[in-house]
Amino acid sequence: MKKHNYSAGPCILPQEVFEKSAQAILNFNDSGLSLLEISHRSKDFVAVMEEARAIVLELLGLEGKGYSALFLAGGASLEFIMAPYNLMKEGGKAAYLDSGTWAAAAIKEAKLFGDTVVVASSKEENYNHIPKGYTIPADADYFHCTSNNTIFGTQMKEFPSVDMPVVCDMSSDIFSRELDFSKFDLIYAGAQKNMGPAGTTLIVVKEEILGKNGRIIPSMLDYAKHIKAESMYNTPPVFPVYASLLTLQWLKNLGGIAAIEKINNAKAALLYGEIDRNPLFKGAAAVEDRSNMNATFLLNDEAHAATFDAMWKAAGISGLPGHRSVGGYRASMYNALPLESVQVLVDVMQALEKAI
Ligand SMILES: *Cc1c(COP(=O)(O)O)cnc(C)c1O
Repeated sequence: MKKHNYSAGPCILPQEVFEKSAQAILNFNDSGLSLLEISHRSKDFVAVMEEARAIVLELLGLEGKGYSALFLAGGASLEFIMAPYNLMKEGGKAAYLDSGTWAAAAIKEAKLFGDTVVVASSKEENYNHIPKGYTIPADADYFHCTSNNTIFGTQMKEFPSVDMPVVCDMSSDIFSRELDFSKFDLIYAGAQKNMGPAGTTLIVVKEEILGKNGRIIPSMLDYAKHIKAESMYNTPPVFPVYASLLTLQWLKNLGGIAAIEKINNAKAALLYGEIDRNPLFKGAAAVEDRSNMNATFLLNDEAHAATFDAMWKAAGISGLPGHRSVGGYRASMYNALPLESVQVLVDVMQALEKAI
């Protein structure tokens, strides 16, 4: 039976990525060797890393603008540490927007490095919206925000313009919509939400912001060292990098971010339209901040949960239960999820309405 995978991460990837990466494990580039058994310094793998780093900048429109792309290990969670280590001065200050659990986790780590100002927080409302109308201290070393709050289903539609480096955790919506990416100085994203398998984190950094905070940074946590080593300071996570490259090639062939954004908008409009129309359901996040990647919604009457759960499972849907901190349901509609899968979910929601 066809599956419709709404998992929040690790998540659905294009079928051709599964097929091509499986083939590369058996016989990489017709070499008779597996991708998993060759040196990361071999010509074939160095080419993978070079192409992966280049296609990132190409898709984001950042070629020739002083940015470097890195594929590191450690997850987005390690970037919560690397960002302040590389950007916050000794005795310095950083400004953070607290828009969700991941933002709060980033704040916790930044506090280890210096004065961490939380400019606004929606924690008291269980992060059901993006805080707005805040002031960012002009003397902060950088401003940090989270573009998409994976757990709560909110997404920043606008970003403040400030006179300092802007750092953004884009783990769950990178490559999903057009933005002026040159407004950001450091972008990071765990691959497993929208770009590839778990095991690598994409970092896109404007080189001129590095080396200015006066700290002695351990080599593995130093962006500049990784750039100098062309993202091969140590053995890179070869398989996740390769599968991410395949996903980005798929996206490029589709027409890039502009093309996928249209599809993502159509998927979101279809599902939110049904959540708002169907009297059995309600959305969990403030309407103006709704995420096009993770739609969180609830049944108005929990008594229908068992029936609904049985129905969507029977339709081949998986990964729909919401995060425990929100409850209800979360439909993660990442780039590789087809519109057809959203239609299947909407059909089930309508069938539930008819059934009760
Ligand atoms: C999942 C997620 C993280 C954590 O990613 P890891 O790679 O597991 O460390 C951080 N930020 C956001 C927005 C996420 O969705």
